[in-house]
Amino acid sequence: MDKNTIKRLIFVILFVIIVVGIILIIQNTNKTEKALKELGYSKEDITVIIEKLSETDIEKILNMEYNQKLVSILNATYYIPDNLDRYIAYSPKTDNIDDIISIVNVGADNEWYTNTKETNLDDGIKMLVNKFHYLKEDYLPNDIVSISNWYAYEGHSTKKEVYDNYINMWNAANKKGLVLLVNSSYRTFEDQENEYNMSNDDYASRPGFSEHQTGLALDIVSDGVQGNEFENTDEFRWLQENAHKYGFILRYPKDKEYITGYNYESWHYRYVGKDLATKVKESGLTYDEYYAYYCEYKKAC
Ligand SMILES: [Zn+2]
Repeated sequence: MDKNTIKRLIFVILFVIIVVGIILIIQNTNKTEKALKELGYSKEDITVIIEKLSETDIEKILNMEYNQKLVSILNATYYIPDNLDRYIAYSPKTDNIDDIISIVNVGADNEWYTNTKETNLDDGIKMLVNKFHYLKEDYLPNDIVSISNWYAYEGHSTKKEVYDNYINMWNAANKKGLVLLVNSSYRTFEDQENEYNMSNDDYASRPGFSEHQTGLALDIVSDGVQGNEFENTDEFRWLQENAHKYGFILRYPKDKEYITGYNYESWHYRYVGKDLATKVKESGLTYDEYYAYYCEYKKAC
């Protein structure tokens, strides 16, 4: 055979391999599409499923019954691919797709205080502490300073950065004739242990699971006000509008108990820094949801 014949032969062989490959891919896609159709998925559903899922995940879907919530889950804003199995497992529990996504993303498809892991301390002021993320007994924040009685009830302390921003916030509120007062702040593991032992899971965090151990949380009220009476004060309304400008977010909002694990606390504010506080506020998400999606999954917070 001369050189040209060999060249031609190689070309023909390659051409055949490519054509056969394309045919096989098309056949396989058609097979998948047919199987999904037989399960009950519409043409539009199938397009989304094939676009969003890996072959392994599609294989899983093909081994399950038709799930009418699947495509809405895949199209949800805060969908995280790694959570697919858990979304599907949780999907019979509610018809609200956003709730399925949020509950699974924050880990609340597990019982509170189960499947726990240590807080990522490298996150610094962004660290997440909740009923699934804990601080070790020996975790002591640095830069703890005491809060002057001008701004707080007796005997409170917090991280220096939090204190500086709290004073700025206090002054801005005070210019409007409002007086903020801190009535709980930094707590050690032992402080929380004592509080928990005198209470129960409905009213206190377990030791290690309290945000107060970070030195980044302040309970803020106005004079003489108890508990959620605070939400009826001008101080509270001012904080709703302005706290983020000083780096604080309302950590346990109303009607989000099933995500945060805490009843509504109009007084509990968490310092995360101005940029992040603004982003969290604009997102309308709880910090647990924001952290799960943007900090942990997107690595952008
Ligand atoms: Zn608190």
